[in-house]
Amino acid sequence: MKPITKAIRIQTEQTGEMEHSTPLFLTSSFCYNDAEEMRATFADEREAYIYSRFSNPGVQEFTDKMVALEGAESGYATASGMSAVFGSFLALLKKGDHLLSCSSIFGSTHSAIKKYLPNFGIEYSYVAADRPQDWEAAIRPNTKMIFLETPTNPGLDIIDLEILGKLAKKHNIIFNVDNCFATPLGQRPIDFGADLVIHSATKWLDGQGRVLGGIVVGKKELVKEIYLFCRSTGPALSPFNAWVLSKSLETLDVRMERHSKNAMQIATTLQTHPKISSLRYPFLPSHPQYSIAIKQMQSGGGVVCFELKGGIDAGRKFLDSLKMLSLTANLGDTRSIASHPASTTHAKLTEEERIAVNITPGLIRLSVGLEHVDDILADILQALDNC
Ligand SMILES: *Cc1c(COP(=O)(O)O)cnc(C)c1O
Repeated sequence: MKPITKAIRIQTEQTGEMEHSTPLFLTSSFCYNDAEEMRATFADEREAYIYSRFSNPGVQEFTDKMVALEGAESGYATASGMSAVFGSFLALLKKGDHLLSCSSIFGSTHSAIKKYLPNFGIEYSYVAADRPQDWEAAIRPNTKMIFLETPTNPGLDIIDLEILGKLAKKHNIIFNVDNCFATPLGQRPIDFGADLVIHSATKWLDGQGRVLGGIVVGKKELVKEIYLFCRSTGPALSPFNAWVLSKSLETLDVRMERHSKNAMQIATTLQTHPKISSLRYPFLPSHPQYSIAIKQMQSGGGVVCFELKGGIDAGRKFLDSLKMLSLTANLGDTRSIASHPASTTHAKLTEEERIAVNITPGLIRLSVGLEHVDDILADILQALDNC
């Protein structure tokens, strides 16, 4: 079966009632028929559920679908994207190791690295997303993991997964990719040599702005370490959120197709707008890393970003002039969203720090939704007229 069919058809074992849609397994623990069955389960002599911090049928269903979609060996679902990110760091890095990452990474990931990894004696350093030539020189003898996101947030830089995959292999380094922006249907990092792939399921995977969730998939022996770490420390995905997410995956393919189609049309229309000085969308030939994007991605995804000529004031004016698009920090929703990173999510950085990661004063990030594209465009165009 093709991965998208598996995302629809993989189903937790029937409970006897022959439900067509998987029921919600809202239980914290599981029972045994007798003492011997219970002993054998705890001794790992038989496979059975024990406790929902370890696993749960609905959580397993979501996990199995994601493993199929990413072409991975194994997976573990977590309470949020951040617990998947940080779980993968703490389960696999130890005192004296070095994490090599990219300066353009999700804000909370950056904060967690900067604030907490040094407490565990773990070193880190960054390479700029638009300087692919710098990765190899940045590898240290103790580099244990390379972690990156592509496309990057919010600047939409594209990093060559094939080159990084080969580099990681050559130096025997774990290659860990946050694939949130592309989704497994837009890009499969494992095909390019990634050992681990992480998602914030909160974004496109849910796609409807309802639940928090995360997952890590990849090589069996690495995922097992992350599972053991999370099982001991507790960031399990809730069965309810897993049930929502598993259903969401059944429509991921059609949703992403429309998100990408709408985004492409909006990007094409806006790229010559007089109020906009530059615009980025991975599948537009004008994107500086277009050739990498079309090599490793199946579609351009739902995020478009552009720079307003009028800088920070124009950015705020643009948000204030929107009538339909939502002003919210999330992305990957049926509803289109606009954000102005310089005055919101990245306002705490200095101007210099923002510029270093390509967050310019007039940068607007759009998460293109599933509304009719004419309505999304009309709202953006009337807001541009006002700024
Ligand atoms: C949102 C996001 C995360 C964090 O996910 P949460 O589910 O909010 O914890 C990590 N990486 C990227 C790229 C994200 O957009």
